[in-house]
Amino acid sequence: MTQEKWGQLRTNLLKSIGQNNFKTWIEPLEFSTLEEGVAVFRVPSSFIGNYVGQNFSDLILHELSNAGEIVQRLQFEVANSTARPTRAEAELQGAGPSQHAQASMSEPATPDAVEALQAAPLDPRFTFDSFVVGKPNELAHAAARRVGEGGVVTFNPLVLYGGVGLGKTHLMHAIAWDLRVRKPELNVLYLSAEQFMYRFVQALRERKMMDFKHIFRSVDVLMVDDVQFIAGKDSTQEEFFHTFNALVDQNKQIIISADRAPGEIKDLEDRVKSRLQCGLVVDLHPTDYELRLGILQNKVQQQRATYPDLRINDGVLEFLAQRISTNVRVLEGALTRLFAFASLVGREIDMDLTQDCLADVLRASDRKITVEEIQRKVSDHYNIRISDIVGPKRVRAYARPRQVAMYLCKQLTSRSLPEIGRRFGGRDHTTVMHGVKKIEELKVTDGQIAEDLEMLRRALEA
Ligand code: ADP
Ligand code: MG
Repeated sequence: MTQEKWGQLRTNLLKSIGQNNFKTWIEPLEFSTLEEGVAVFRVPSSFIGNYVGQNFSDLILHELSNAGEIVQRLQFEVANSTARPTRAEAELQGAGPSQHAQASMSEPATPDAVEALQAAPLDPRFTFDSFVVGKPNELAHAAARRVGEGGVVTFNPLVLYGGVGLGKTHLMHAIAWDLRVRKPELNVLYLSAEQFMYRFVQALRERKMMDFKHIFRSVDVLMVDDVQFIAGKDSTQEEFFHTFNALVDQNKQIIISADRAPGEIKDLEDRVKSRLQCGLVVDLHPTDYELRLGILQNKVQQQRATYPDLRINDGVLEFLAQRISTNVRVLEGALTRLFAFASLVGREIDMDLTQDCLADVLRASDRKITVEEIQRKVSDHYNIRISDIVGPKRVRAYARPRQVAMYLCKQLTSRSLPEIGRRFGGRDHTTVMHGVKKIEELKVTDGQIAEDLEMLRRALEA
């Protein structure tokens, strides 16, 4: 392909993506070579290369093929490779106390890692379709959906906060995907606060602050994930604050996530906090049993694509939803492992296989609900004494609560039947088994028992 031909193609691109996008992203591209189906472009920074690769490569490939070029792939090369960071910048990178678990886990990146981190691709799995809505996340989901419509900016910024693995990043990507479909003309930029910092440091180093400001002030929708990362990093916070204000002034949508409420992020400047609090702040609560079960069912459907023949027994998902903590990432990982393991050993997924395969995960996320705790809650609930539950009396008024307690011990602890028996006044394991069976039957036929179990389980897991 000749330079002239690329020049013509650029005109077409200008028409389809608009002046703003064109100036920011396409104009800086310099066509280099086209060999063996790979079109190489020189770009001023890997950030631009990554961004163009993510957002415009289909379009560029399409234009190229319309022009009769045979191209499978685009490649972006940074025009002049960047220098090592100066000491001041290195200090900046490591600046600030990293009191948050996540922040302290990330090592100061090497220049190469910095390059690789410039812009995060959107995860194709993180869409609204694949997001399971439940009580703990319904508000966050509704707000994200609204922003994803790309209508008038009503709350700015939208702040999503909550613990690790509760779906913040998923929702942000989902917004970006939605906007891409509904409002392709909008310039949507998603990045982590960490990437924001690296971009900023790089711009300082390369003396390209003008470009940096230009890029960040020309986006229509800015999403910054895990903003707690910039706490204590003063110059980055300052730049973030200015970027933020400039965009809000232009009525551009901003979406932020954090691992806790803005007011509770230590070492985040007050002015940044108060900016964040000006918008709509919604939290993702820890998942509850129903949501975890819903997510597992959803993921099983997805696994079917890979393992169409694998069978999963009744009760396994319920067991996992009960036993694995609130972090959805852990839950997903467990299920993926289970399917892979079952397919390797060629067995169906039953309780035994689950216990074998996930022993470590189950141990780690053991809620540590104790037999004593269950006995106490059950006796409170039925208004009897613990001594009646573990004692020898067989009257229905004690026997039924006793069976309920045994059932809950079986479900919520990792104790074996004989162990449970011992803690119920030295009863035999067959007695425990009988009790558990009885409650399993009643759960289906007796609405009151089902309700009692549900209430007790919630109380114990809370
Ligand atoms: P966070 O950013 O809050 O730490 P993520 O968005 O990365 O969490 O979510 C962790 C994993 O859990 C992802 O794979 C995500 O798809 C999944 N996940 C979280 N919440 C849900 C949900 N409600 N429905 C489906 N998947 C979810
Ligand atoms: Mg995240």
